[in-house]
Amino acid sequence: MRSTSQGGAIVKGPATELIHAGEADRGDPLPLTTPIYETTTFVFKNAQEVVAYNEGRSDRYLYSRYENPTLVSVERKLAALDRADAALLFSSGMGATASILLANVNSGDEVVCSAAIYGGTLHLLNDLLSRLGIVPRFVSLAELAEPERVISDRTRLLWFESPINPTLRCVDIARVTAACRGRSVISVIDNTFASPINQQPLSLGVDLVMQSATKYLNGHSDVTGGCVTGPKALVDPIAKVRRLLGTVMDPYPAYALGRGLKTLPIRIARHNSNARAVAEFLAEDPRVSCVYYPGLPSHPDHGIAKRQMCGFGGMVCFDLQGRLDLAERLFDRLTIIKRAVSLGGVESLISMPVYTSQWGHTEEQLRDAGVTRGMLRLSVGLEDAADLIADLDQALGA
Ligand code: PLP
Repeated sequence: MRSTSQGGAIVKGPATELIHAGEADRGDPLPLTTPIYETTTFVFKNAQEVVAYNEGRSDRYLYSRYENPTLVSVERKLAALDRADAALLFSSGMGATASILLANVNSGDEVVCSAAIYGGTLHLLNDLLSRLGIVPRFVSLAELAEPERVISDRTRLLWFESPINPTLRCVDIARVTAACRGRSVISVIDNTFASPINQQPLSLGVDLVMQSATKYLNGHSDVTGGCVTGPKALVDPIAKVRRLLGTVMDPYPAYALGRGLKTLPIRIARHNSNARAVAEFLAEDPRVSCVYYPGLPSHPDHGIAKRQMCGFGGMVCFDLQGRLDLAERLFDRLTIIKRAVSLGGVESLISMPVYTSQWGHTEEQLRDAGVTRGMLRLSVGLEDAADLIADLDQALGA
């Protein structure tokens, strides 16, 4: 049906009515929570507003791939958590990682990267970015303990993780960042395992913090996301790359992440206390040959962890005499703890590093990573610690 004009007023056809009904303004509502601005684009009142936006004289929004109010509200929470000037949200941790690297390195630049790193980061550098002329240089934890020696004149950026997967070894963050500062190298930490509640890398001199928001930040295993925090001067160029690559998060997951963040401190406190209880139980059990938890005095990096962490986290790794058959038996017998990859959620999850992060690795590679075939990695959830311990106890068997 066509629209007609009757006495100046436009009588709209049904399709137009359907699309524009509900626009009537009842005044500004004041919601308690930030709404989901599920819109791709934003309306301007007139041409002057568009010009003001283009000239950077306006705080209006243009297009959700650039910025969206739901995301901005969550980004402010993330910046506050890390005591950072600025934060950005991404569609995944890998989206964040790729955007940080592409914003900061050029063909011919060297990226020094801890070899003890999330596999996706390693493959991004080794298989993809190397094709663009970026030169990855992987260094062992022993080499990273003397960071001055691994930085060369070509090094532009140093990427590391602490605690690392699966042995929860820790890197001396202040030492690494001091070496980078002296050589104008950008230091980036993947703080996913610790979360901002347990570790504040910016206060230890790190330039940029990356996290997979898929894990503790959201905490409910129902959002895939990533984030970057740091000084505005370093975050702004990454925002430009995010626009170009389209690695931005969608408004709905941003809303869910914002809701998850509200309980982060209490969730982390419970992850910390549950993981400690589980680690102490396993450490005293003769059926378990070794337990890796940075909060235990027996952990090789307990001293570093005590210095730079305010909680030891929810991840625990343990070894059943290096025996794959024992690890598989325990894995299959668990009833409360779920057999799944990933970490940082409400539910406790277990995985076997030789079947996940170290899949296909040679004996030498396993030795270098400190991983055995009898290892299990636990992401301790928010259940009652006594129930988790009882589940592990029965699964360990006679
Ligand atoms: N960093 C760490 C330590 C991770 O464990 C993961 C995923 O498991 C990532 C980064 C990648 O995050 P995402 O899966 O959100 O892309």
